[in-house]
Amino acid sequence: MKKEVKKILDDAKRYLIQQESLFGDEIILPKQSSSEQEQSPVEKDVSGEQFGVAPSWVESKTLDELEAKIKNCVKCPLGKTRTNFVFGVGNHKSEVVFIGEAPGAEEDLQGEPFVGRAGQLLNQLLASVGFRRDEVYICNVLKCRPPGNRDPLPSEIEACSPYLVKQLEIIKPKLIVSLGRFPVQTLLKTSASLGSLRGQVFEWRGMKIIATYHPAAVLRNQQWKRLLLEDLRRAKEIFLQK
Ligand code: SF4
Repeated sequence: MKKEVKKILDDAKRYLIQQESLFGDEIILPKQSSSEQEQSPVEKDVSGEQFGVAPSWVESKTLDELEAKIKNCVKCPLGKTRTNFVFGVGNHKSEVVFIGEAPGAEEDLQGEPFVGRAGQLLNQLLASVGFRRDEVYICNVLKCRPPGNRDPLPSEIEACSPYLVKQLEIIKPKLIVSLGRFPVQTLLKTSASLGSLRGQVFEWRGMKIIATYHPAAVLRNQQWKRLLLEDLRRAKEIFLQK
């Protein structure tokens, strides 16, 4: 009996230490849901909803390992409606990571971020400031597509953002470029507008963050293209700084 109690306490301690490494001082406790009893052991492991036992993805050392462990995630309802899980693409040791908000229709079909019209625009602008797509890393806050390309819900961001945090912990880039407001708001835990965040350089766990327009927003409003290009030039300057 004593052994069992000790094991439970050890597991709980390990869980809290891992949560602290992911979220700092904020302790995030799992929600108990009525559907929990219907989850398979694999789903439980992915979602980390077994209190006292940290999900195994938390200990991932590489992006491939992390992806393999979370690709069947159904922690939020988007897991049931997606066509493909969209993890991220690019150089796993990149010093710059571009983050969008969520996969769109084309990304959902192909399982890769930024492959639609917005992705083509991003490629073109990255090339024009001297970034090759294969030397950067690109991902989203959400790994599954919100239906109809609606904005991510706070509950979806809460469920999915620990995966983004883990990706960034593994890559350890020098610079993070937030494409749109959701990535920067999520990482800095702020509700400030993109307009007020743009033009500043923030620090997050030793990494720099800048925020700019999402290429999809630029497709809808061409006057922002010049500003996005300006911000990407700034990103290149920071990337080249020693
Ligand atoms: S959006 Fe994230 S949390 Fe929701 S099911 Fe997909 S991977 Fe899981």
